[in-house]
Amino acid sequence: MKLSFFGAAGEVTGSCFLLEHENTKILVDCGIFQCPRFCDIRSREPFPFDPRSISALFISHAHIDHTGRIPKLVKEGFKGKIYSTYPTKGLAELMLKDSVGVLSKEAAREKEEVIYSDEDVEKAMGFWEGKNYREEIKIGPFIVTQHDAGHILGSAMTMVSFRGEKGEEKKILFTGDLGNPTNPLLNGIENISSPDYLVTESTYGDREHENIKEKKLKLERVIEKSVLQGGVLMIPAFSLERTQELLWEISDMLKNKQIPAVPIYLDSPLAIHATEIYQKYYSYLNKAYIDKESFSFFKIPSLHFSLTTDESKKINDVHPPKIIIAGSGMSTGGRILHHERRYLSDSKSTILFIGYQAPGSLGRRILDGADVVRIFGEDVAVRCRKEVIHGYSAHPDENVLFEFIRERSDRLKKVFTVHGEPKASLAMVQKIRDYLGIDATAPKYGDTIDL
Ligand SMILES: [Zn+2]
Repeated sequence: MKLSFFGAAGEVTGSCFLLEHENTKILVDCGIFQCPRFCDIRSREPFPFDPRSISALFISHAHIDHTGRIPKLVKEGFKGKIYSTYPTKGLAELMLKDSVGVLSKEAAREKEEVIYSDEDVEKAMGFWEGKNYREEIKIGPFIVTQHDAGHILGSAMTMVSFRGEKGEEKKILFTGDLGNPTNPLLNGIENISSPDYLVTESTYGDREHENIKEKKLKLERVIEKSVLQGGVLMIPAFSLERTQELLWEISDMLKNKQIPAVPIYLDSPLAIHATEIYQKYYSYLNKAYIDKESFSFFKIPSLHFSLTTDESKKINDVHPPKIIIAGSGMSTGGRILHHERRYLSDSKSTILFIGYQAPGSLGRRILDGADVVRIFGEDVAVRCRKEVIHGYSAHPDENVLFEFIRERSDRLKKVFTVHGEPKASLAMVQKIRDYLGIDATAPKYGDTIDL
């Protein structure tokens, strides 16, 4: 059996792994390369294999760095089946359709052709079949099952079984992106049996998360202070998972009267649609909460959904204090920019960062202490308060990740660390070799290994 790494090798985007055995080829993930652009130049290159020769594609979760080249794969001749959990199928359709807009704008700016269109997304969805966790799918010599990865709604690890040279059963597990166990909405990483080979993410292979237990308390304090000052609390948030986690925590604090009931706005069509899918697949969320009550994101008191541009503009008419949650998470676009233009210069207002801010992004410049930033061609002074809460990461830190591997070390023959900057991936390789005595490596793009 041959395993090839065609993305997320020594980097965090472009996830794509190829398995070949007895003339059957399957792929796990088909993500877009995103650094430094939304659609990096490498995403435009032809696939290093013939898309027509692939029998099936398994998708771990709906993030675009795991799905963003699917319409291109279809455009270039793929005619197999695409499998994922049902929520991933729903969320991926939403994210891929949204990405067409972003890609078109970027392509126009760079004077390039768009890598795929709405029609290619439609066509891809026609090949897509939803499956339950742990449902067996047989493709030639492979038997594939998906298991909860606890990263975002519907996220999955992919276990592939095949027969070795002597007819013995062998297993390889692709973690996809794993979750952070402190996420209150999800069930966490499923406890599954040990594979022989592990292809694991290593996003934070060299870092411990801070303040994880403190994060909700900190959120409470930031909201209280912001309300007390009579200003606007702006929260730039990613539409998927981060927003829903935030809404859940706010709803919980409102219910327990830990925060005052000021108007809260979710000002992002993408986040609203993603929240609808979270509501639809409510049974996939953490049972500890579901058994107690029938929670609805759409019945949180004082929460308003601003779907249209008009509804978004009306937020301006509401007197502070108020809370505005809007994309994009790094202020690189989206409706948050309108609110930042209006309130960054207000000393009574607050901007709260709950996610990673990439170098060069507007969010990063504000966070790094810029006195003035440029938004829609205007200079805007930054006088508002700045707050940061770590611990909203959707990935496990190095301790959780290492523990996940250690618990499976009895059968493991080899570990491949992917989906991490080289420093993080290599740190995890070293730790696995030193403490577990297991062969580990951080593969490079294009590496092929015989298993
Ligand atoms: Zn992800």
